[in-house]
Amino acid sequence: MTDCVFCKIVLKQLPAIVVHEDEHTLGFMDIAQVNPGHVLVALKAHSENLYALNEVQAGAVFGAAAHLARAIRDVFGPQGLSVYQANGAAAGQQVFHFHLHLIPRYDGDGVTLIWPRKNPPREELEGYAAKIRAGLAHRKDIEAAGDV
Ligand SMILES: [Zn+2]
Repeated sequence: MTDCVFCKIVLKQLPAIVVHEDEHTLGFMDIAQVNPGHVLVALKAHSENLYALNEVQAGAVFGAAAHLARAIRDVFGPQGLSVYQANGAAAGQQVFHFHLHLIPRYDGDGVTLIWPRKNPPREELEGYAAKIRAGLAHRKDIEAAGDV
């Protein structure tokens, strides 16, 4: 996409500090650096979000993420590492080209994610699960027909 910042980074039309590159992915430093070593893993192909990924792309992104996460762990020695990935503005997505964040984490580093637990009764949870199973069956039909 011509107006996409991450497509421009992939095409080297905008500068980025690249730490990893393979056939499908590009890993580069997030300029915001929530903590030192904060890396973004983006698909090279323009795909808006997780919904748009095929299995090869999904595998490539998480393969690169695991590879980079181990390297970040080795050289920065964080107490933990968060993977953050947003789909849609309501989820906090700001660049609409699929990417995930690898964020080294430390006790008291100020990074927060509000996690408003609902703890629904078991029957309600079973209802959600039934909807998802029906959704998966429907997706299987759609994808068997060659759609994504
Ligand atoms: Zn793009």
